[in-house]
Amino acid sequence: MVDLKSQYDKIQQEIDTAVIDVIRSTQYINGSEVKNFQHDLENYLNVKHVIPCANGTDALQVAMMGLDLKPGDEVITTSFTFVATVEVIALLGLTPVLVDVLPDTFNIDPESVRKAITSKTKAIVPVHLFGQCVDMEPLMEMGKEHNLYIIEDNAQAIGADYIFKDGTRKKAGTIGTVGCTSFFPSKNLGCYGDGGAIFTNDDELAQRLRVIVNHGMEVRYYHDSIGVNSRLDSIQAAILRIKLRKLDEYAAARRKAACYYDRAFANHPRIKTPVRSKFSSHVFHQYTLVIENLDQFALQKFMGERDIPAMIYYPVPMHMQKAYIDPRYKEGDFPVTEMLSKSVISLPMHTELDEEQLKYITESVLEFLGQN
Ligand SMILES: *Cc1c(COP(=O)(O)O)cnc(C)c1O
Repeated sequence: MVDLKSQYDKIQQEIDTAVIDVIRSTQYINGSEVKNFQHDLENYLNVKHVIPCANGTDALQVAMMGLDLKPGDEVITTSFTFVATVEVIALLGLTPVLVDVLPDTFNIDPESVRKAITSKTKAIVPVHLFGQCVDMEPLMEMGKEHNLYIIEDNAQAIGADYIFKDGTRKKAGTIGTVGCTSFFPSKNLGCYGDGGAIFTNDDELAQRLRVIVNHGMEVRYYHDSIGVNSRLDSIQAAILRIKLRKLDEYAAARRKAACYYDRAFANHPRIKTPVRSKFSSHVFHQYTLVIENLDQFALQKFMGERDIPAMIYYPVPMHMQKAYIDPRYKEGDFPVTEMLSKSVISLPMHTELDEEQLKYITESVLEFLGQN
């Protein structure tokens, strides 16, 4: 799905030097590169605080710990997401409240969120799925009205702009109370291992988060709160500093590939190509088609036989996962999510796709649909 080797080849010199510098410095944990990356990312995102951590799942967990959410508190999110979003809510003993998504953007439906708010609701977790922002303004209004935290799961949309009605722009993950991201290798800003970060403009919250990722410790060996051990390695930070400088260029390369796909599938009676919302730029973490009457696994197999990876994100909605079965939900409750889970297919999407590959991929999809 991603060609990390070709991407690395183009920046090899810079990466190798940076990695070797860290090794020679012996500052493997909390080294100066971590602080430098933190500041670079704060500048890029135009946010006051970036708190690096070990991965995107930890980022979500630590954010919820820092907001002092307590067992019984309800947290609203979508059933059409990667498991981590719901996993951390459950792990902290909070109550996940699931809602449906919109069919055009695959993102959380603000009207369904409004209907799901109760006196126990404490937070909303919008997931900026596949590289495009959730419509944040209605959620921010609900947050204000009902005194709710907005925790953005921005693992898939780092670098995307949210565009307010008045035309002002903010980076995805910097709009709500707190934003969380992942630097997993295949994410838009990926390191060469695990990594993550939390963003906020709230000084007090930032301080609490910094203490939590460090064992609840502000003064060495004095623990004021229960924390976790969640750090970004210096080597990963050094790699991320280099890749951050290229993030916008990388997004442009992804958009270019997306435009090729769009043209190839335009006007096909069964294919719906990704929409571009007016309130968000698209950084194409995934290029996901919705295809009518599709046997997804047959298409995936057909592509696989041609050495083309194709993935189904996500085949089973959260409310139908064994671990998250809950008497509050049953099959049929989230019709859009369930329809999408049966009809989506994501094509290879990365910074190194060339015309020849794109031609081969699109022709293969069309050939399959011609026969099935
Ligand atoms: C990748 C991802 C995460 C988790 O990130 P990790 O770094 O793998 O822990 C969380 N939420 C979403 C939507 C993701 O895509």
